[in-house]
Formats: sequence, C-alpha cells, structure tokens
Amino acid sequence: MAYRAVFRCIAGCPGDYPLWDPIYRCPTCSDLLEVSHDLDALTDRSAVAWMRLFDERYKRTTWPYGSSVWGKKEWVCPDIRDESVVSMDEGGTNLLWAERFGRELGMRDLWVKLCGNSHTGSFKDLGMTVLVSVVQQIIKDGGTIRAVACASTGDTSASLAAYAAAGGIPAIVLLPRGKVSTAQLLQPIANGALVLSLDTDFDGCMAIVQRLSQDEGIYLANSMNSLRLEGQKTVAIEIVQQLDWQIPDVVIIPGGNLGNVSALGAGFDLMAALGLINKQPQIVVAQAEAANPLYRAYQNDWVFEPVAAKPTQASAIQIGNPVSVRKAIRTLQRHRGIVEQASEAELAEAAARADRTGMYNCPHTGVALAVLIKLRERGLIDASARVVVVSTASGLKFTDFKLGYHESRLPHITPQYANTPVELPNDYDAVRRTVDEHAAAVS
Ligand SMILES: *Cc1c(COP(=O)(O)O)cnc(C)c1O
Repeated sequence: MAYRAVFRCIAGCPGDYPLWDPIYRCPTCSDLLEVSHDLDALTDRSAVAWMRLFDERYKRTTWPYGSSVWGKKEWVCPDIRDESVVSMDEGGTNLLWAERFGRELGMRDLWVKLCGNSHTGSFKDLGMTVLVSVVQQIIKDGGTIRAVACASTGDTSASLAAYAAAGGIPAIVLLPRGKVSTAQLLQPIANGALVLSLDTDFDGCMAIVQRLSQDEGIYLANSMNSLRLEGQKTVAIEIVQQLDWQIPDVVIIPGGNLGNVSALGAGFDLMAALGLINKQPQIVVAQAEAANPLYRAYQNDWVFEPVAAKPTQASAIQIGNPVSVRKAIRTLQRHRGIVEQASEAELAEAAARADRTGMYNCPHTGVALAVLIKLRERGLIDASARVVVVSTASGLKFTDFKLGYHESRLPHITPQYANTPVELPNDYDAVRRTVDEHAAAVS
C-alpha cells in the first residue's frame, strides 16, 4: 500500500517537502513544519484492523516491529526501509496503575506512563529513533551528512548520542554547562559524541546549534525537526493501546520546549481521524514556575512572551523560549487544554510523596504530579476520572536531586519526606534497638 508522509508548513503555506530534505522551517514564512500523512491511504485498513495489526506486533521479536514506535511504522514514517531503521526497542514502557497514590488523592483510576524505562532513560528515545533512522537512509542513499547535532537540557543529547552511535553516525551535542545532571552529562560522553559544554543556558545552545546546522552536512536533531515528534506521538497511541483501546479522560505532561504536547495531541488526532477513538482526552501541560512561559500565555489569552528561565530542579524543562510554542497552543485549544505550574517545593514534595508509594520519580514527573494534586484540590479533576500522568524520565538519572532532597540540601525546600540512612556500629543490640524504635515510630 502506498502510504505517504511529507513535511508541510504549520501556518498553511502551500507546498510539501520530502522527509529526506534537511529542512526544519517553511522556506516561505519560516514557521515550523509538521509531518502530514496521507489519511486517505491510511483508511485502506479499518480501525479494528489497525488495532489488530498494532497488537500483533507489540513487543514481539520481528525486527523492527517489536519496537512500539516501528510497530506503528505506517503512521510514523511509512517510506523508511527496514534496513535503515536504527532501533533499540523503544516504547512498550509500563503503564503503572498508581493504586496507592491515587487512593491518597481520592482517585481510583490514576495511571503513570513510565516512559523513562527506556533505552537511555527518557521518552526522547521515541522520537530519536525516527530521526536517526531517516538520517541513516539519507546517508545510504548517498546524501552528505557529516554529523547530527543538538542543543539539549540533557535527555535529548543522551538519546541522540546513543542512537547515532548505534547507527555509526557522528554526533555533536551542545549542553549548558552545569545545568544537566551528572548522569545526563556522562551518557553522550560514554557513547562517543563530541560534547560541547557551553557557558550559557539551553536557549543559548539552541541559538548556536541552529546556526551550526545551516551548514549542509550538519543535521539538526532538536524537536524543531518534526521527525522527532512523529515518534513521540506514538506515546498517545501506546497509552490507548495499553488501556485496551480505551481513551483516558485526562493526560498530564510536563512541558519545556513544548514539542511533546503537540506530539501527544497529534497521536490522539490521528487515532480519531482513523476511527480508533471517538472522543478526545483533555490535555494538561505542567510547567515549573521557574520556567513558565506557556503558563503565562495561558493566563493571558494565549498571548506568548518568552521569559528568562530561572534555575529549577526540573532541569530538562528549564526553557524560557520554547521552539514549539505555537504548535502547543494549537493543540491545547483543540483539547480543552489546561496549563498549571509547580513551585520548586511543590515539585520536590510531589515526587517524594509519590516515591513513598513505590515510584521513583524524576523532577519533571514531580512537576506533573504536583499539578495533578493542585487540579484535584481545585475540583478540576474528578475522583472517578481516568487520568494518565506522563512520566518523562527515569528518577535514576536525577540522583543529585534525590540525594539533595533527602539530605535537606535543596535550596528553599524543607523536605517533608526526608529519609536518611541510620549509621550504626557493627553491633546487634544497636540494630535491634533502632528497629524497635522505628517500628514504634511508624505504628
Ligand atoms: C524533553 C523533556 C521534557 C519536555 O518535553 P518538551 O517536548 O521539550 O516540552 C520533559 N521531561 C523530560 C525528562 C524531558 O527530557
């Protein structure tokens, strides 16, 4: 079947461009591009047939279709040849029923989509596999790409470095010095990328990488390149698939550069267009108060002004001038969108409180959980609502944050759930006494 996808201008300028062209903005108006699928061709299968096909492939070993991104290849990037795909089995992460945490909030149907349980520990793998696979095909077809490059708040560079290394493609990553976690800095180093640690913030790195990629041989891997969003949108499809093709009422996602919120919306829109779902969830974007330009726009009839992002523990979303803001606003207008913010104390306490129910949350997930708590308290989310919180990275990448919290070292935070190890001599009686005292304290 001749499925087809092309780049189109999001502002509606005429013209379409092959996915193999290294263009990131509309040549006419320089707005962003998006990938547009030939929906007529995709209706050759019924909704039921698509669901069956995706279920048959899900997590099986027929390469590359066991990846939950490539299992939906026709909806993502139909023209890629299987031999070009650079996949490390992305997607298929657990959708955790947050039974105990939900009960604490008076909810029965709360789910946390653990996207951080992925090859490089964040949901960025979903999109990076698509971008690097397209680059691989361009190279195989004789195109001149010397390297792939990105600016990053940590997770994009980790993901790009891993996928580029798997595909044998040189990678360049630009990071704001001192603003990514130790684990995130080490990932691209280990994978052999050229790591440039710049004396600026993410927005500064972004400005430089855009200039760098004007050079023909350097391919831009930021989410401004909408190939990434095609992979990211599969999270929406996968959530519905994991709920036995039922739609949640509300999805909460942390937002920084704001590519992912539109990817989420695009996934739901495509399912609706092809008849797999017959209603849309409400989409909530959660921002850190220290970097809240979308929240401000939401408060101000969607009039957007960039801000200077202040330091936040949620370092992956410390972005003041999000590249995909227009796409995000469009998505939120279509999905009864809400934007809410969380302070540093709120995000840290929400992450820690949920950790007490068995999770291990990164600070960005903390932002989303804090927003959930606020919306529940305000009655904007019902007790009976089926809510999915998108957890974007593994807590294991944010040891500095966790340790700082439990050792009461995070600025302006007096932790409510701090838990520190009890240091004891090599002595049975001391251990016994401590256990008994602890048991008395918790009973
Ligand atoms: C990239 C990232 C986000 C934000 O995604 P955007 O598309 O930039 O809004 C949130 N959390 C984590 C852990 C991330 O790496």
